[in-house]
Amino acid sequence: MRRLVVLAAAAATMWAGEGKWTPQQVLKLNPAELKKQGLQLPVRRLWDPVRGTGLLAATVNTGGCSAGFVSEAGLVLTNHHCLFGMVQEHSRPGRDLITNGFLAGSRDEELPSKTGRVNVPRKFTDVTAQMEAAVPAGASDLERAKALEAKEKALVAECEMTPAARCRVAAFDGGVQYVLVESMEILDVRLVYAPPRMIGEYGGEGDNWMWPRHTGDFSMARAYVGRDGKPAPYSKDNVPYKPEFFFPISTEGVKPGDFVMVLGYPGTTVRSLTALEMADREKNLYERRVDLYGAWIRLIEEATKGDEAGIIATAATLKSLNNVYKNAGGQIAGLKRGRIIAKQKAAEAEVEKWAAGKPEWQSALAAKKRLDEMVAEKERTAARAFLLQTVASGGSALRQALQLVKLAGERGKPDAEREPAYMNRMMPMMVAGLERAEKSYFRRADEALAAEWIGRALKLGAGERIKSVDAAFGQGDVKAKLAGMYDGTKVTSLAERLKMFEETPEQLKARRDPMIDFAIALQAELDVFNEQAKAIDGAVAKLRPAWRKAVIAHAGKPVAPDANSTLRVSFAHVKGYAPRDGVVYTPQTTLAGMMEKHTGEDPFDVPKKVREAYEAGKAGRWKDARLGEVPLCFLADADTTGGNSGSPTVNGRGELVGLNFDRVWENVANDFGYNPEIARNVNVDIRFFLWMLDEVENADGLLKELKIRK
Ligand code: ASP
Repeated sequence: MRRLVVLAAAAATMWAGEGKWTPQQVLKLNPAELKKQGLQLPVRRLWDPVRGTGLLAATVNTGGCSAGFVSEAGLVLTNHHCLFGMVQEHSRPGRDLITNGFLAGSRDEELPSKTGRVNVPRKFTDVTAQMEAAVPAGASDLERAKALEAKEKALVAECEMTPAARCRVAAFDGGVQYVLVESMEILDVRLVYAPPRMIGEYGGEGDNWMWPRHTGDFSMARAYVGRDGKPAPYSKDNVPYKPEFFFPISTEGVKPGDFVMVLGYPGTTVRSLTALEMADREKNLYERRVDLYGAWIRLIEEATKGDEAGIIATAATLKSLNNVYKNAGGQIAGLKRGRIIAKQKAAEAEVEKWAAGKPEWQSALAAKKRLDEMVAEKERTAARAFLLQTVASGGSALRQALQLVKLAGERGKPDAEREPAYMNRMMPMMVAGLERAEKSYFRRADEALAAEWIGRALKLGAGERIKSVDAAFGQGDVKAKLAGMYDGTKVTSLAERLKMFEETPEQLKARRDPMIDFAIALQAELDVFNEQAKAIDGAVAKLRPAWRKAVIAHAGKPVAPDANSTLRVSFAHVKGYAPRDGVVYTPQTTLAGMMEKHTGEDPFDVPKKVREAYEAGKAGRWKDARLGEVPLCFLADADTTGGNSGSPTVNGRGELVGLNFDRVWENVANDFGYNPEIARNVNVDIRFFLWMLDEVENADGLLKELKIRK
């Protein structure tokens, strides 16, 4: 971690909220300053550089979300929305766990899941020099991308020789640094507790990304391993995993001004983009998302209206589309409100002025210029690119057909030469995905999504045609043709999908399956598009680090790298904010506020058992003396993003006080830059979770396991 060490050496003076620090950076921060902020633990308890582990290792990745171990028997606490897929997987008409929630009465009742995974961090190694050395002198952009990919595969293969290791190479700020991340992947993850939807998702989409908030966004799972302690696929003989570290739960709670840390796996931020690249992202990603995803959401709602099976099957898809849709709106609003692009432009101009007369930074200036030119070059085919990038979200049948076609082609190559997603190491997850799709397929909705996507593809400009779409749907009625395709395909049958999983391209072709035939033609175009995208990545892998090194040198202080789904810590304080002129938000909400919002109708329909407990005054030991109520959510100024959902929020002693689950509306565009005035993350107070288990669910066994009850 040599480079991060250098970056962090002077970090002591710079933070206040801003920065998603890597474990290694944390060690380099000034301990006296951390203590002043409120950290009571020795830093080495968080992360021991010699052993490469510590309390931070109790923070796990669930593939898209963060989570924390909370018991010595593998209990994992995360957000309701992170385990929602598992809840949906086990729901059906007559057993609607989404609406009613789920509590396993004993370990035998815990519900296994097809695709649930928990990754426990093990080791971080700086491989920057090796990655850079892998690129031959004079390589073209595509050759550079391929050389980096090949090196990554080799490093991953070597790393995965360690038993049970799951590895990846993470690029920081586009390649300023590369780190080999080794974790242990647990394959048997079972649902233990999910509250009713009207707790876990109280307030629905209207309240999502908002404050004040009254959502109990928590759920629990348990990680299981084989009897030898090693990860193993689901088996009833598996035993709970014993983590080396887990978070003790604080029953003391938080109050305004308290120090907290948010630990997790933030996914993607884009603060290292140039101003022009940011503007491109606003226009060609977020604006297009609002448009397409908005249409898809309406179509699913129409297609499932009054149909319980349809509503359950599409619940997880709809929820995720809604979340991305609203996020995109928030990004656009925040970019405008914070004038973020203009500010980035001004900051760049300063760096350019500073670098202008310095020979050593001329290549950095040239790199920046080239990054900006590439934005203009991509613009001509941006509508087409967006559609090709979103095809996999446009219906599960088409997504699976494309995946099976691609797999058949890739299988013919030696493993190390395949696209990373189609290597042998990915096969178990792919099969699980094909099986899991069974629970979320609803033809009417699926067909509507595909029809919308195809309709848009048919409207592309002359220079952007997608030929396979033209050939299959250019003449006649799209809906009728598509219906014929769905009638004729076998992709929607699990047994057939599993057969197709083993087939060669010739066998797939010989099936004369209309969906597969369309996927073959479309995949050929996607392959060309992806190769072009790879060349762009190759160019960026050279240009971005060159430019960023100048930005960092000009700053003369540590600049925390953009999020990239690696383990990070954010130091923060419990704090309210002023969303607009004349309005100040306090940082805590309570159960009384949840009741105030109750209308009896979705999404403000507090479950009866919760209302009864509240009305009977059953606050138990969970009432906050200062608030006079059971606390529910709180705000802090942590630097978080998507992927931080489910992050343990801990106090200065490393005890769990909450779970991060969202940001406030004004702070959605924080992905582009941290603004201390409005940078607020939303946490559920752990005391509300405990109140639910204690006073509503009477979950005696779990409370004992969490050491809350004797
Ligand atoms: N809700 C987000 C997540 O799902 C968290 C955020 O974006 O702040 O990870």
